[in-house]
Amino acid sequence: MMIAIDGTLVSKGKGGVYGERMIGEYRVWDPYRSKLAALWYLDHSTDLPGDSVVLYLGAANGTTVSHVADYAEAVYAVEFAPRPMQDLLMVAKSRKNIVPIYGDATQPQRYAPLLEPVDLVYQDVAQPNQAAIAIRHLPFLREGGEVILMLKTRSVDIRKSPEEVFADTCRELEDAGLSVVKSVWLLPYHADHAAIVCKRV
Ligand code: SAM
Repeated sequence: MMIAIDGTLVSKGKGGVYGERMIGEYRVWDPYRSKLAALWYLDHSTDLPGDSVVLYLGAANGTTVSHVADYAEAVYAVEFAPRPMQDLLMVAKSRKNIVPIYGDATQPQRYAPLLEPVDLVYQDVAQPNQAAIAIRHLPFLREGGEVILMLKTRSVDIRKSPEEVFADTCRELEDAGLSVVKSVWLLPYHADHAAIVCKRV
Protein backbone atom coordinates (compact mmCIF):
# COMPACT_ATOMS: atom_id res chain seq x y z
CA MET A 1 0.00 0.00 0.00
CA MET A 2 1.19 3.51 -0.77
CA ILE A 3 1.74 5.53 2.40
CA ALA A 4 0.07 8.90 3.01
CA ILE A 5 0.59 11.10 6.05
CA ASP A 6 -2.35 13.45 6.55
CA GLY A 7 -3.16 13.09 2.84
CA THR A 8 0.42 13.70 1.67
CA LEU A 9 1.96 10.89 -0.37
CA VAL A 10 5.33 9.77 0.98
CA SER A 11 7.80 6.94 0.66
CA LYS A 12 10.09 5.59 3.35
CA GLY A 13 13.74 5.93 2.45
CA LYS A 14 16.96 7.88 2.57
CA GLY A 15 16.28 11.53 1.71
CA GLY A 16 18.31 14.16 -0.04
CA VAL A 17 17.82 12.82 -3.58
CA TYR A 18 16.41 16.04 -5.08
CA GLY A 19 15.88 18.30 -2.08
CA GLU A 20 12.58 16.60 -1.24
CA ARG A 21 10.86 17.51 2.03
CA MET A 22 10.96 14.96 4.83
CA ILE A 23 8.31 14.07 7.37
CA GLY A 24 10.35 12.17 9.92
CA GLU A 25 11.83 9.20 8.05
CA TYR A 26 9.42 9.61 5.14
CA ARG A 27 10.14 11.41 1.88
CA VAL A 28 7.39 13.62 0.47
CA TRP A 29 6.56 12.51 -3.08
CA ASP A 30 5.61 15.60 -5.09
CA PRO A 31 2.87 15.11 -7.73
CA TYR A 32 4.14 18.13 -9.71
CA ARG A 33 7.56 16.47 -10.08
CA SER A 34 6.39 12.91 -10.61
CA LYS A 35 3.61 11.62 -12.85
CA LEU A 36 3.26 8.48 -10.76
CA ALA A 37 2.63 10.57 -7.64
CA ALA A 38 0.14 12.64 -9.68
CA LEU A 39 -1.68 9.45 -10.67
CA TRP A 40 -1.93 8.43 -7.02
CA TYR A 41 -3.37 11.80 -6.04
CA LEU A 42 -5.95 11.53 -8.79
CA ASP A 43 -7.07 7.94 -8.30
CA HIS A 44 -5.91 6.94 -4.80
CA SER A 45 -5.77 3.32 -5.94
CA THR A 46 -2.38 3.07 -7.63
CA ASP A 47 -0.14 0.76 -5.67
CA LEU A 48 3.41 -0.58 -5.63
CA PRO A 49 3.51 -3.80 -3.62
CA GLY A 50 6.71 -4.37 -1.66
CA ASP A 51 7.59 -7.54 -3.57
CA SER A 52 7.23 -6.01 -7.03
CA VAL A 53 9.98 -5.94 -9.62
CA VAL A 54 9.74 -2.88 -11.84
CA LEU A 55 11.16 -2.09 -15.26
CA TYR A 56 11.32 1.70 -15.48
CA LEU A 57 11.77 3.24 -18.95
CA GLY A 58 12.81 6.89 -19.07
CA ALA A 59 14.42 7.09 -15.64
CA ALA A 60 15.89 10.61 -16.14
CA ASN A 61 17.80 11.67 -13.04
CA GLY A 62 16.06 9.18 -10.79
CA THR A 63 13.53 11.41 -9.01
CA THR A 64 10.57 9.07 -9.42
CA VAL A 65 12.81 6.00 -9.59
CA SER A 66 14.04 6.72 -6.06
CA HIS A 67 10.48 6.77 -4.68
CA VAL A 68 9.53 3.62 -6.60
CA ALA A 69 12.61 1.93 -5.14
CA ASP A 70 11.47 2.89 -1.63
CA TYR A 71 8.42 0.69 -2.21
CA ALA A 72 9.46 -2.03 -4.66
CA GLU A 73 11.83 -4.98 -4.34
CA ALA A 74 13.90 -4.04 -7.38
CA VAL A 75 13.86 -1.37 -10.08
CA TYR A 76 15.59 -1.77 -13.45
CA ALA A 77 15.93 1.83 -14.59
CA VAL A 78 16.63 2.56 -18.27
CA GLU A 79 17.86 5.96 -19.47
CA PHE A 80 19.64 6.94 -22.68
CA ALA A 81 20.75 10.55 -22.07
CA PRO A 82 24.25 10.84 -20.58
CA ARG A 83 23.63 13.82 -18.26
CA PRO A 84 20.61 12.48 -16.32
CA MET A 85 22.31 9.08 -16.33
CA GLN A 86 25.10 10.52 -14.18
CA ASP A 87 22.55 11.63 -11.56
CA LEU A 88 20.76 8.30 -11.80
CA LEU A 89 24.03 6.50 -11.06
CA MET A 90 24.42 8.57 -7.88
CA VAL A 91 20.87 7.71 -6.82
CA ALA A 92 21.49 4.01 -7.51
CA LYS A 93 24.70 4.14 -5.47
CA SER A 94 22.84 5.17 -2.36
CA ARG A 95 20.27 2.36 -2.69
CA LYS A 96 20.62 -1.41 -2.99
CA ASN A 97 17.67 -2.18 -5.27
CA ILE A 98 18.15 0.05 -8.33
CA VAL A 99 19.84 -1.39 -11.40
CA PRO A 100 20.71 1.58 -13.66
CA ILE A 101 20.84 0.71 -17.35
CA TYR A 102 22.37 3.13 -19.82
CA GLY A 103 20.38 2.07 -22.85
CA ASP A 104 17.90 3.01 -25.54
CA ALA A 105 14.39 1.78 -24.78
CA THR A 106 13.72 1.30 -28.49
CA GLN A 107 16.41 -1.44 -28.44
CA PRO A 108 15.52 -3.68 -25.47
CA GLN A 109 17.40 -6.62 -26.98
CA ARG A 110 20.64 -4.81 -26.06
CA TYR A 111 19.92 -4.90 -22.32
CA ALA A 112 17.67 -7.97 -22.19
CA PRO A 113 20.42 -10.10 -20.59
CA LEU A 114 20.44 -7.74 -17.58
CA LEU A 115 16.71 -8.15 -16.88
CA GLU A 116 14.51 -10.60 -15.01
CA PRO A 117 10.73 -11.02 -15.44
CA VAL A 118 8.98 -7.97 -14.02
CA ASP A 119 5.60 -7.21 -12.43
CA LEU A 120 5.37 -3.68 -13.76
CA VAL A 121 6.64 -1.86 -16.83
CA TYR A 122 6.53 1.85 -16.03
CA GLN A 123 7.20 4.12 -18.99
CA ASP A 124 7.76 7.88 -19.16
CA VAL A 125 9.80 8.56 -22.28
CA ALA A 126 7.99 11.39 -24.12
CA GLN A 127 8.76 10.02 -27.59
CA PRO A 128 6.65 9.75 -30.77
CA ASN A 129 6.51 5.94 -30.59
CA GLN A 130 5.49 5.53 -26.96
CA ALA A 131 3.08 2.62 -27.47
CA ALA A 132 5.60 0.73 -29.62
CA ILE A 133 8.30 1.13 -26.96
CA ALA A 134 6.02 -0.29 -24.28
CA ILE A 135 4.97 -3.17 -26.54
CA ARG A 136 8.61 -4.09 -27.17
CA HIS A 137 9.01 -4.71 -23.45
CA LEU A 138 6.06 -7.09 -23.07
CA PRO A 139 8.28 -10.18 -23.27
CA PHE A 140 9.74 -9.11 -19.90
CA LEU A 141 6.34 -8.69 -18.24
CA ARG A 142 4.96 -11.52 -16.11
CA GLU A 143 1.50 -12.81 -16.93
CA GLY A 144 -0.95 -10.69 -14.92
CA GLY A 145 1.62 -7.91 -14.74
CA GLU A 146 0.89 -4.26 -15.45
CA VAL A 147 2.06 -1.55 -17.79
CA ILE A 148 1.73 2.07 -16.71
CA LEU A 149 2.34 4.29 -19.71
CA MET A 150 2.64 7.99 -19.05
CA LEU A 151 1.52 9.23 -22.45
CA LYS A 152 2.71 12.67 -23.52
CA THR A 153 0.27 13.32 -26.31
CA ARG A 154 2.16 16.27 -27.85
CA SER A 155 5.24 14.10 -28.35
CA VAL A 156 3.26 11.62 -30.45
CA ASP A 157 1.60 13.94 -32.98
CA ILE A 158 0.91 17.64 -32.44
CA ARG A 159 -1.45 17.72 -35.43
CA LYS A 160 -3.89 15.39 -33.67
CA SER A 161 -5.98 16.25 -30.64
CA PRO A 162 -4.85 14.79 -27.31
CA GLU A 163 -8.01 12.65 -27.25
CA GLU A 164 -7.24 11.25 -30.70
CA VAL A 165 -3.65 10.40 -29.73
CA PHE A 166 -4.93 8.81 -26.56
CA ALA A 167 -7.49 6.68 -28.44
CA ASP A 168 -4.88 5.60 -31.03
CA THR A 169 -2.44 4.64 -28.27
CA CYS A 170 -5.03 2.59 -26.38
CA ARG A 171 -5.92 0.77 -29.61
CA GLU A 172 -2.27 -0.02 -30.31
CA LEU A 173 -1.77 -1.38 -26.79
CA GLU A 174 -4.92 -3.51 -26.98
CA ASP A 175 -3.96 -4.85 -30.41
CA ALA A 176 -0.73 -6.03 -28.78
CA GLY A 177 -2.73 -8.10 -26.29
CA LEU A 178 -2.93 -5.72 -23.36
CA SER A 179 -6.15 -4.82 -21.63
CA VAL A 180 -6.53 -1.14 -20.70
CA VAL A 181 -7.90 -1.14 -17.17
CA LYS A 182 -7.71 2.54 -16.32
CA SER A 183 -6.78 5.87 -17.83
CA VAL A 184 -6.39 9.19 -16.07
CA TRP A 185 -5.54 12.63 -17.47
CA LEU A 186 -2.89 14.09 -15.18
CA LEU A 187 -4.22 17.64 -14.91
CA PRO A 188 -3.75 19.79 -12.88
CA TYR A 189 -0.29 18.32 -12.20
CA HIS A 190 0.98 17.62 -15.74
CA ALA A 191 -0.50 19.12 -18.91
CA ASP A 192 -0.84 16.99 -22.08
CA HIS A 193 -0.29 13.77 -20.16
CA ALA A 194 -2.51 10.76 -19.62
CA ALA A 195 -1.66 7.74 -17.50
CA ILE A 196 -2.74 4.53 -19.22
CA VAL A 197 -2.77 1.49 -16.97
CA CYS A 198 -2.89 -1.89 -18.73
CA LYS A 199 -2.83 -5.50 -17.68
CA ARG A 200 -1.23 -8.37 -19.47
CA VAL A 201 -3.92 -11.03 -19.60
N1 SAM B 1 10.39 9.53 -15.28
C1 SAM B 1 11.19 10.68 -14.92
C2 SAM B 1 10.76 11.13 -13.53
O1 SAM B 1 9.57 11.03 -13.18
O2 SAM B 1 11.63 11.56 -12.76
C3 SAM B 1 11.10 11.78 -15.94
C4 SAM B 1 11.33 11.26 -17.35
S1 SAM B 1 11.54 12.47 -18.61
C5 SAM B 1 9.94 13.05 -18.89
C6 SAM B 1 11.81 11.44 -20.01
C7 SAM B 1 13.13 10.73 -19.99
O3 SAM B 1 13.10 9.68 -20.94
C8 SAM B 1 14.31 11.64 -20.38
O4 SAM B 1 15.30 11.60 -19.38
C9 SAM B 1 14.82 11.03 -21.69
O5 SAM B 1 16.23 11.13 -21.85
C10 SAM B 1 14.38 9.58 -21.54
N2 SAM B 1 14.21 8.87 -22.81
C11 SAM B 1 13.56 9.30 -23.93
N3 SAM B 1 13.62 8.38 -24.89
C12 SAM B 1 14.32 7.34 -24.40
C13 SAM B 1 14.72 6.09 -24.93
N4 SAM B 1 14.42 5.72 -26.19
N5 SAM B 1 15.43 5.27 -24.14
C14 SAM B 1 15.75 5.62 -22.88
N6 SAM B 1 15.41 6.79 -22.31
C15 SAM B 1 14.69 7.64 -23.06
